[in-house]
Amino acid sequence: MIETNKRCWAEINTSNIAHNVNEIRKIIPSQTKIMGIVKANAYGHGDVSMCKELLKSGVDFFGVACMEEALRLRQAHIQERILILGYTPKEQFHYLHEQNLIQTLISMDFAKELSDYACLNDVEIQCHVKVDTGMSRLGVQCKKEQWDIEDVKRMYHLPHIRVQGIFSHFSVSDDITHQENLTFTNHQIALFDLVLQQLKQAGIEPGITHLQNSYGILNYPHLSYDYVRPGLLHLGVTSDDALATIAKPDFRPVMTWKASISYVKWIEAGCDVSYGRTYTAKERIKVATVCVGYADGYPRMVSNMHKHVLIHGQRAEIIGRICMDQMMIDVSAITDVKTGDEVVLFGYDNDVLLSVDELSRACHTINNETLCWLSERVQRIYR
Ligand SMILES: *Cc1c(COP(=O)(O)O)cnc(C)c1O
Repeated sequence: MIETNKRCWAEINTSNIAHNVNEIRKIIPSQTKIMGIVKANAYGHGDVSMCKELLKSGVDFFGVACMEEALRLRQAHIQERILILGYTPKEQFHYLHEQNLIQTLISMDFAKELSDYACLNDVEIQCHVKVDTGMSRLGVQCKKEQWDIEDVKRMYHLPHIRVQGIFSHFSVSDDITHQENLTFTNHQIALFDLVLQQLKQAGIEPGITHLQNSYGILNYPHLSYDYVRPGLLHLGVTSDDALATIAKPDFRPVMTWKASISYVKWIEAGCDVSYGRTYTAKERIKVATVCVGYADGYPRMVSNMHKHVLIHGQRAEIIGRICMDQMMIDVSAITDVKTGDEVVLFGYDNDVLLSVDELSRACHTINNETLCWLSERVQRIYR
């Protein structure tokens, strides 16, 4: 990037990251540590920068989705432990020992393949075992329908595989309003504990244990495994603000997404705005063109949904279809709007907060996804 992009950018408030990590620490038991999940470019916030900020807050273990993400961190000289939470194809196995990475054993077949590789090359691979207690995504099945504890035990004894930890993943820890989902999550916890107990009975030391994602932390804060795995919470947001939670920390959103105004003009009653002529001015209105569009990650489906952005701390409605690189807003009620003014798409306009949650609700999705939409064209600026 040549210089600061004054077209469309995302400001990352680093002091809010430290604040949020502190809020997480207030919820979890004092001996429990944080594994910072920074997959998907830290949900659009910038993975390397996020790791550096988390490090300052004492987070010493990171989790990513795949090898490419782990290598990005290593190339940026992040030297802490990194756990790859997902599948790694065998062509990439060599990076595991070359770059000192920890691989999740996602299935027995995968573990054997990795062990065979490690034996052949006379290297040792660090791993965490994944057990499936109800998500049915990755891991050795340890459920009432299928109890493959023998496979879990076998993983600990595979040659050239050094199992350092074990974990599972919640599927409905975000729901505390339906009894059947509370029961399901508590059942997942009980299954995970039973796995740990049966390992110990077999003389196997399970290693580092971890189970809770963000909602697992908020709704099951009493659990005392070695680590928790938040991806969202240090970003100061939850998936959906309408969901009730047990713990109610004071999280502060880390990202504020901004764009500049390129052009302001009055249009007469009867004038159409943007592609498809889906919006027609009913009276004379003042229209501002904003330098953001769906190629930046602002969802086109929000067109004509009476959704807002902030300008000078006031709400302005998006009118007409959102284009690839631009969109129009009605600023009739806002004085002194001019070319170069900043628009807040979500986040803070000084003291006024427009939550990312409003955008996510309009799109019938969760904030996790909305944050991932921001494209590479949106420069991230750390303050
Ligand atoms: C993504 C992910 C997390 C983090 O989830 P959040 O709900 O964003 O906190 C934790 N664990 C695993 C296995 C994940 O895939």
